[in-house]
This record gives sequence, structure tokens and C-alpha cells, in this order.
Amino acid sequence: MTKQENDKLTEKRGQTEIILEEMLNEQQYSFSILGQEYYKLVSEDPEILVSGLSDYIDTVKLTESEITNLEDEIKKMDKLLNEPLDLVCPGCGKIMDPDAKFCSACGSSLERTEEDINCP
Ligand SMILES: [Zn+2]
Repeated sequence: MTKQENDKLTEKRGQTEIILEEMLNEQQYSFSILGQEYYKLVSEDPEILVSGLSDYIDTVKLTESEITNLEDEIKKMDKLLNEPLDLVCPGCGKIMDPDAKFCSACGSSLERTEEDINCP
């Protein structure tokens, strides 16, 4: 092989490797879709479950319920985070109505000062 032929082949090899990489990614994606479809079928009809794959089905089921739990938790946290903040009495620490001017427990003033508002 001449130096020129070697260079040409090296370049072609590099391009082929890139195409191979893309094909492998595409294949991986197709397998994941195939797996999802198989999972759906098995969920509807456990009779068609291939015995060697039951661990994977169990793992997907477990992960699915954990995902649902986490999504619910995030929704609950979002709801709490969007609620107005409690007004805490600086005198006694009791939680007061956000519109209250004075603490109903100890009588401290609950008016916000400039300092409170500017404080991060
Ligand atoms: Zn108070």
C-alpha cells in the first residue's frame, strides 16, 4: 500500500467508524422502543412473558412506581412552594395571619420594617 492509499483508507476508516456509531445509537433506540412495546404487551398478557426476562419486567415495574411517587412528591412540593409564606411573630415565634398587624399571643408588632423587606 502506498502512503497515498494508506491516507485514503485511514480517512475512509474514520468515516465508517462515525457511521457505525450512528447505526449503533439508532439500533439502541430501536431496542428501547421494542422493549417498551414488549413491556406493554406483557403487562396486558403475562402469558407471553419470556422467563429469562421476568427480572427486567419486575425492575421496570418497580422503577415505574418509584417514578410515579417522585412525580407526586414534586407536585406536592410545588403546591406548598406556591403558597404564601406564613407570618412568624418575631416576639414569640407563633404563626400569624399574613394580614395581622399585631401578634394575638404576645402583642408584638408584626409590621414589616424596611430592614425586613430588604433582607434577603
Ligand atoms: Zn407573638
